[in-house]
Amino acid sequence: MDTSEIKAILDQDFENLLYKLNVYDAVVAGTVQCAFCHDTVNISNISMVFPQNGEVHFCCDKKSCTDKLLKQRGICE
Ligand SMILES: [Zn+2]
Repeated sequence: MDTSEIKAILDQDFENLLYKLNVYDAVVAGTVQCAFCHDTVNISNISMVFPQNGEVHFCCDKKSCTDKLLKQRGICE
């Protein structure tokens, strides 16, 4: 998957992904937290959603948090 494909997914399918994970309403309502900094995550600052331990976790768009997520997920390896 190249970067343009990733961007397309983020732009076009991200809301669908949130729907699929049944968390769209919670994100829009701002009732979820970043898994790393525990700030409120909403539709304007969410950068990623990821399953872990059978739960859906969220990552905000701060670089310090996305860096942690990428390292944790092994995407940078
Ligand atoms: Zn964060």
